[in-house]
Amino acid sequence: MTQAQLDPHLRMVRAVEPRTPQGCEECLQTGSPWVHLRLCLTCGHVGCCDSSPNRHARWHAGVLGHPIVQSFEPGENWRWCYVHDNFT
Ligand SMILES: [Zn+2]
Ligand SMILES: [Zn+2]
Ligand SMILES: [Zn+2]
Repeated sequence: MTQAQLDPHLRMVRAVEPRTPQGCEECLQTGSPWVHLRLCLTCGHVGCCDSSPNRHARWHAGVLGHPIVQSFEPGENWRWCYVHDNFT
């Protein structure tokens, strides 16, 4: 994905505040562990990554149609599109 081919899903990006900055929203409810966290840039949902048992970030993207996340790990600021399955 080059700068000349902007991902159309970036239109979904909003100015969001993390809803559950302490961890994955669904894993916190079920007491499940996670590996890394991803922040939905459309609604502020915090979900766990594909290395985690429950993959709630990908689940959230599919169910709600919010494809763009940003890493919620300290020092990481890359974005990912779950529709294109690529950095964006
Ligand atoms: Zn995309
Ligand atoms: Zn989770
Ligand atoms: Zn969302």
